Amino acid sequence: MIENLKKINLILQLRKLGITNYRILSILEKIPREKFINQELFYKAYQNEALPIDCNQTISQPAVVAKMTELLEPKKSFKVLEIGTGSGYQTAILSKLFKRIYTIERHKILMEKAKKILSNLKINNTVFYYGDGMKGWPAKFSFERIIITAVCKNLPIKIINQLEEGGILVLPLRYDNDQYMTKVRKKNKKLYFKKYWRVRFVPLVSGIN
Ligand code: SAH
Repeated sequence: MIENLKKINLILQLRKLGITNYRILSILEKIPREKFINQELFYKAYQNEALPIDCNQTISQPAVVAKMTELLEPKKSFKVLEIGTGSGYQTAILSKLFKRIYTIERHKILMEKAKKILSNLKINNTVFYYGDGMKGWPAKFSFERIIITAVCKNLPIKIINQLEEGGILVLPLRYDNDQYMTKVRKKNKKLYFKKYWRVRFVPLVSGIN
């Protein structure tokens, strides 16, 4: 019961922050965030906070997950590439809005854990890959949507090459000393950038761990 109240409170908070997409809010209400964090943090599962996960990484703040999802302009027929599986929480949200999720993580421990959680939640439209996401998906593939959940200094070219014409990439991007949520649209082979709010993400790191 208390858990339900905490959940409703979080949803109300997200609405106040300008997240109005009903579909996204109802998915956030349904996916059990507590499954993606360690037990000692359960009491914080429905607070609008980023929380630590294994390997010195973080599960993103619910408001950020919701807004990034909104910026992606999801469509049920689209394939989406996610760089930085982390806990798998964003992956689970995306799985309800896209046809298939291709997700890459450079920490094997995190990837295995996320895989298990999603399988327990009976989410089976997700393909996991343990590797360096900066290199893009390890097969000749293209995606209508791409999301990067770690901060980049520059756009990784191999990822851009896998974005379809007309596609959207959402990522935190570094501008001098700050990071801003950014939407990149590929149109007539050109990239159009739109800068949104200030964020704090862990860095995109090359190589595997
Ligand atoms: N959306 C995730 C956020 C995880 S934090 C969540 O809500 O849980 C970002 C993740 O990106 C970390 O797990 C980190 O290991 C991963 N990452 C960083 N650089 C990467 C790279 N080059 N390839 C794949 N994953 C990477």
